[in-house]
Amino acid sequence: MNKKMMEILACPIDKHFPLEIFELSSKEEVVSDGAIFCPKCSRFYPIVEEIPIMLPDELRDKDQDIEFLKKYKNTLPRKIVSEGLPWHL
Ligand SMILES: [Zn+2]
Repeated sequence: MNKKMMEILACPIDKHFPLEIFELSSKEEVVSDGAIFCPKCSRFYPIVEEIPIMLPDELRDKDQDIEFLKKYKNTLPRKIVSEGLPWHL
């Protein structure tokens, strides 16, 4: 995902803008892995293989999200890993 996308992305739940981005791996302007965080509703959205997965709660894959959090629990901020929605560790 190109970082410039952050200039237009809003939270799919509450339409909040701007959102926060946490880069886990990136090259120049492109984020390969990371997380997008909505400070209004505390939801996080994974960025996996350059794709931001911004789905409403009912369409999210909980197992996949938990695996993502476990993988990056030491790198992502506590507000995502321990307190993020719709689920956290
Ligand atoms: Zn939100």
